[in-house]
Amino acid sequence: MFRTRLIRTAVLFLLVFLIPAVGMAGNGQKEKVKNVVFMVGDGMGVAHVTALMLDGKYAPIAMERAQAVGLVKTYSANNRVTDSGASATAYATGHKTNNSQLSVDVNGKPMETILEKAIQKGMKTGLVVTCDMTGATPAAFYSHVSSRKDVESIAAQLVDKPIDIWMGGGRQPFEKRKDGRNLLDELKEKNYQLIFDTKQIEDLQNGKVAGLFSEKGYMPEYSQRGNYLPEATAKTLELLNQDNKKGFFLLVEGSQIDRGGHRNNSELIIGETRDFDNAVGVVMDFAEKNPGTLVVILADHETGGLAIPANDADFNKGENGIQFHFSGKGHTGTMVPVLAYGPGAENFSRILDNTEISALLKKLMQLD
Ligand SMILES: [Zn+2]
Repeated sequence: MFRTRLIRTAVLFLLVFLIPAVGMAGNGQKEKVKNVVFMVGDGMGVAHVTALMLDGKYAPIAMERAQAVGLVKTYSANNRVTDSGASATAYATGHKTNNSQLSVDVNGKPMETILEKAIQKGMKTGLVVTCDMTGATPAAFYSHVSSRKDVESIAAQLVDKPIDIWMGGGRQPFEKRKDGRNLLDELKEKNYQLIFDTKQIEDLQNGKVAGLFSEKGYMPEYSQRGNYLPEATAKTLELLNQDNKKGFFLLVEGSQIDRGGHRNNSELIIGETRDFDNAVGVVMDFAEKNPGTLVVILADHETGGLAIPANDADFNKGENGIQFHFSGKGHTGTMVPVLAYGPGAENFSRILDNTEISALLKKLMQLD
């Protein structure tokens, strides 16, 4: 008798407490993924995230709200150390390519991206970054070029795609072009609201948006750009969620963490990672209020070979300070973190190849 009751209690416990944690809706049906927010901290290794935690004296950061944590192998088709182009290609298409190529295979043949498949399925799409709009990470989701330096072709491919909202830097390749096209005029003809000042973001009410907030290249660093990334992310979520029947795919990139790594500048890494984490907080709040939203947070590669050694090699003593120590000025081949929240999050709780991330998203978004 006692045993039967014990089993019954155990089964009840499983039903009530454990199963909802793996993505069951209240009615017992497995919760489906409707919206995906894909968040990339460019160059953000585990040490970069740790640096942010140390700076905040271990006060919880937004990334800690994730329900699943894993690691990603980042190597590209031709190099054990990837660039942002090949890594973003793996995330966007599920296939490895050579460094500096964007969503074309090693022979230059275009490969369809998650964002393109989402558009075909009738989902809404958005891109919010702090680099130039034609930067490698966002560009791999909407363009197909053999060299990431071909920014005029990348810009033209962006304008030719019906992406609902996009915001970042780098106005130049849209208006000063060798082919004489003025892509800004073309965007206006396509009923985009063109904005060039981040102050205009809060006034957006609805409709399609193209934001270009720097003349050339990256947007300013965190210390000069205010709360652009979290605010642009919040506004984009609000707009994409209006009349949201078929779901959306949104890419958010904290693009300049990578710069801090290249410059071996721990202050820049911490500031940029904090800004990215603030955007993560905005997205987590949205996902909590909007069931069916899967949030995936990861990096494309690690930059700088950041380590955080103790000042004193004698670990029998109490602490005597720490250092931010960089092993190089470039990218490294170390695995990077992946964090997930929402329906399907449990799939990310292991070691994954960067191409598997894409395959998982396609499956969860039912894009195949
Ligand atoms: Zn880099």
